[in-house]
Amino acid sequence: IVESLLSRIDAVEPKVGAFLHVEREKSIAAAKAYDAKKGPQGLLGGIPVGIKDNISVKGMQNTCASKFLEGYVAPYDATVVEKIQNEGAIILGKLNMDEFAMGSSTENSAFKITRNPHDLERVPGGSSGGSAAAVAAQEVPLSLGTDTGGSVRQPASFCGIVGLKPTYGNISRYGVTAFGSTLDQVGPMARDVKDLALLTSVITGKDSRDFTTNPLETPGYHTHLSKDLRGKKVAIAREFLGEGLQEGVRKNLMEVIAVLKEQGATVDIIDLKLSDYSLAAYYIISSAEASSNLARFDGVRYGKRADEVKDILDLYSRSRSEGFGPEVKRRIMLGTYVLSAGYYDAYYAKALKVRKLIQDEYRAIFSQYEAIISPTTPTPAFKVGENTEDILAMYLNDVYTVPVNIAGIPAVSIPSGKLGNLPLGLQIMGKHFDEQGILNFAYAVE
Ligand code: GLN
Repeated sequence: IVESLLSRIDAVEPKVGAFLHVEREKSIAAAKAYDAKKGPQGLLGGIPVGIKDNISVKGMQNTCASKFLEGYVAPYDATVVEKIQNEGAIILGKLNMDEFAMGSSTENSAFKITRNPHDLERVPGGSSGGSAAAVAAQEVPLSLGTDTGGSVRQPASFCGIVGLKPTYGNISRYGVTAFGSTLDQVGPMARDVKDLALLTSVITGKDSRDFTTNPLETPGYHTHLSKDLRGKKVAIAREFLGEGLQEGVRKNLMEVIAVLKEQGATVDIIDLKLSDYSLAAYYIISSAEASSNLARFDGVRYGKRADEVKDILDLYSRSRSEGFGPEVKRRIMLGTYVLSAGYYDAYYAKALKVRKLIQDEYRAIFSQYEAIISPTTPTPAFKVGENTEDILAMYLNDVYTVPVNIAGIPAVSIPSGKLGNLPLGLQIMGKHFDEQGILNFAYAVE
């Protein structure tokens, strides 16, 4: 399997460009070691997996698609990597992304552009664009991405695959380069819901090295999948049907509603009045946290160091000026601004209050409904270059995915038909730690 996928990678990579580093020798050696082992084979025995380049794999580069970390090799495995390897998975390499996971198209990578396998003139989405494109192009059956505001679900939707943003605290972030620590989660990606549930079962669970992980028992989602939608109460938010939603995408959602009703679910339109504030709160909170998290890239500890510096300040500022790309700089400046004296209360503290109100609003809906559904994105994949000048248009891609991270709830994106040749995605949101509920729902409507 590994050899045939390596040939597949050779054939499609010149067009798609999903990988930053293909680990040919290492993956063949791992496959041989796996073959030689006659013992228990594990839940992912011999299955090739691709890993986003902000998740540490010991001995492989972890560049976060940034010049800052070019050549930096991770000295240890992330917990999720340890977990999949313990179950027999074989890592084929590291996947392209927006620099430090900031973006919605993978165009912010410092190294290359990844293209959507369904239409090579279009983006695969982002920031986990490489992870989605590699699965869609059949280079790997499974991959891992990260989702701070939609970075697993939006590219899954653009590339016609499935992707999950788990409940905040369900999956360890140990060994994952931090972006927005109160929002970040690792997210599994696959071609169908059954595979997705299996990978989720493997990587979920408490980790003493990440204190935000919850102590609940891992239930084995893949062994509890069921398809019954009868009597399920489903909500659709009026606010997700408004301005910006492309007509073909709206029509697709209406067809989904008809199917759900046919299968015995009830569907109500409800209000999530605070949704309009999610995006603003997200860009304040995530940028504030990013400005703090990225302070570790100082030219001393990791990666890039500017040459012939005058003094320590010159070292910091030149290393950071040369190492970071424009979007990362934008976020650091925005984050530093909203955290600074005099502005902290007006922006950052206020955004935290808005987040609490949004969480309460979702909680109230989930006391009455089992799932909220929406399109994953307002439009299908856009063209390479189409949104690079208009930063706000790029940010607006995340309007339906960002509230999920703000609320800390789980959500899955599954393929929902096509508009022309471009895949559309359906987002299914559930209450905290109800991964099983949304996976079952996804399994039923897939
Ligand atoms: N597109 C969003 C951003 O640029 C989300 C990124 C993510 O989820 N990592 O911040």
